[in-house]
Amino acid sequence: MRQNYPLDVKIKMAEMRISKFVEYYGESGVYISFSGGKDSLVDLDIARRLYPNIKAVFCDTWMEYPSLRAYVNTFPNVDRVKPDMLLKDIIDRFGWCFPSKDVSEMIWAARNGKQCAINKLNGLDKNGKPSEFRKQYIKWNKLCWDSDILISPYCCIEQKEKPVRRYERETGRHPILGLLAQESARRTEAWIRTGCNSFDGNRPVSKPISFFTEQDVLRYIWYRGLVVAPPYGEICPCGSCCGQTYLFPAEEMDIDHTRLCCTGEKRTGCIFCLVGAHLDRGAKIKRLKQYNKRLYEYCMEELGMEKVLKWILRNY
Ligand code: SF4
Repeated sequence: MRQNYPLDVKIKMAEMRISKFVEYYGESGVYISFSGGKDSLVDLDIARRLYPNIKAVFCDTWMEYPSLRAYVNTFPNVDRVKPDMLLKDIIDRFGWCFPSKDVSEMIWAARNGKQCAINKLNGLDKNGKPSEFRKQYIKWNKLCWDSDILISPYCCIEQKEKPVRRYERETGRHPILGLLAQESARRTEAWIRTGCNSFDGNRPVSKPISFFTEQDVLRYIWYRGLVVAPPYGEICPCGSCCGQTYLFPAEEMDIDHTRLCCTGEKRTGCIFCLVGAHLDRGAKIKRLKQYNKRLYEYCMEELGMEKVLKWILRNY
């Protein structure tokens, strides 16, 4: 229901949630998690309209697009955190996060003998009964049992989660995250369970734009005239990127009822990330070759991604 509210109502709701969180912990007790992506840009912009000096934190894995890292540098008052482990060590020790964090976690647990994860992969609930919802996981059995590819969620944990948790411990700040419930079943479930602001538990957190959709994010950026990170290209009201004909000047378009899209990458984040690689048949990784051949070769050869990608594309 909330996802269907008009954008101006959603903005007001997001402002209320940020204000409540900041009032509770104080401005020095919170930070905006800023990845340079478009969702966190909207989150940061709403928050800084209310609190211009609010702290932002960027997790620098060295695997973001160089232009994205330069873009983040243009924002003031951004702290940087870095992972402790080298990427090669993470991949050698823990393997790849594929096809999603959720499934990689399940495969890691199943291979370590956790019955509930084995049940999930077999489409069964925790009591061993067939579950309609869990049927979707059956196809990943092959990846779990018929391949020797090391799969785990630790790439994200080591590269992103641990550095920000350490920052939170050291500074006592609590995060304001630009996550959308629409992004995944896992995020929707978490939002329904905890709402946007959660003040309890080990990690109080605010997710004030949870009920925004991707189109809301793009419209917000359009109306506010914000600049997105270079890898996204430009925000386009039905340009060739979505296959429609762009007949009118942008200012004459009814943006509220126009589907917006990005002319470049749909997502930023780590350049070589394998999450969802089966969905675009590895296209993002292939684009990396044109974009940065040296980095492409490093991923393919030294990190061993070539073998992994070949197996994925053969089987999914
Ligand atoms: S986004 Fe992908 S590559 Fe980056 S840390 Fe997470 S799993 Fe690893």
